[in-house]
Amino acid sequence: ADRPDKQDFQEAEAFANRAKYKYDEMDYSEPKVPGSQPYREFAGMPVAPIANPASCFKCGTCATNCPVGAISKEDPTQTDALKCIDCMRCVQNCPSQGRALPQKVQEMLLTKLSPLVGVRKANEFFY
Ligand code: SF4
Ligand code: SF4
Repeated sequence: ADRPDKQDFQEAEAFANRAKYKYDEMDYSEPKVPGSQPYREFAGMPVAPIANPASCFKCGTCATNCPVGAISKEDPTQTDALKCIDCMRCVQNCPSQGRALPQKVQEMLLTKLSPLVGVRKANEFFY
């Protein structure tokens, strides 16, 4: 909650200044980004949000705004779980709160993530 805040903006500005400095210096070196590389091939997420047929009135908002085209425009209650990246945009944008992760998954996530609620997540910058 309440992010981005003053500290985020200060850090983003410092990052922009570092990037400009690097550019001005004609330093075209690749930033070192942590993580295993090459990245694994995307094999789909284990679950995707589902539409509740009782509240979905097929306005198509979710399908239009899904960044990966995972929701059928003809029938927005149908989601291609192999394309979905679980960004939750459709859940947030649905005007009838008609989309959600399955109840059991929500409960599992709540248990897993609740220790992190209220903990400030630090930004990481790579340049
Ligand atoms: S945005 Fe909600 S109401 Fe509209 S089609 Fe999608 S699930 Fe149905
Ligand atoms: S969670 Fe994101 S990627 Fe998945 S169906 Fe919804 S909008 Fe598309």
